[in-house]
Amino acid sequence: MTRYGMLIDLERCTGCLACRSACQRQNSLPADMGFIRYEHEEQEAFPNGRPSLVPVQCMHCEDAPCVSVCPTGASYVGAGGLVAVEEGKCIGCLYCVAACPYQVRVRNEETGAVDKCRLCAVSGVDGSHGCTCVDVCPTQARLVGDLDDPDSEISRTIARRNAQPLSVGLTKAKIYYAR
Ligand code: SF4
Ligand code: SF4
Repeated sequence: MTRYGMLIDLERCTGCLACRSACQRQNSLPADMGFIRYEHEEQEAFPNGRPSLVPVQCMHCEDAPCVSVCPTGASYVGAGGLVAVEEGKCIGCLYCVAACPYQVRVRNEETGAVDKCRLCAVSGVDGSHGCTCVDVCPTQARLVGDLDDPDSEISRTIARRNAQPLSVGLTKAKIYYAR
């Protein structure tokens, strides 16, 4: 089965914010709304610590708490294991926003519905082209692909770099980080 995920290489990521900007354009989001946010992280202990920005977005959790709390079925697990939101079914109760431990769901003020990263599923993560954030990253810090294919570039890179989810044990996340 196909199971899409992403790898973010924090050694390559410069925190330039190009991924967030491109994602905002792709999804016609206002300037104050984004599917990608950044966390500050110290790479080494003080006094040698180098603060870096860690991009955080929907982890497309296999055990997604946002899906289990949704009272209308608006949040669901779709093709390729991607967690999606059906706008027409969303009643704006924000249960999913409260349930997401990564704080990556945002409410669209225009529609009243909740939204988040879709791994560009709508526009074709099926192989016709990749995710916008992957395409625009100037340092090639991002990879998207099939985690269930052991020969995919993402699977081989995760194994080689021993990449891990942002927070091991929090949820079964499908966004991996190489450090
Ligand atoms: Fe849901 Fe948050 Fe997991 Fe995304 S990261 S699937 S919004 S719980
Ligand atoms: Fe479901 Fe929408 Fe409510 Fe979230 S805001 S729990 S997606 S109905």
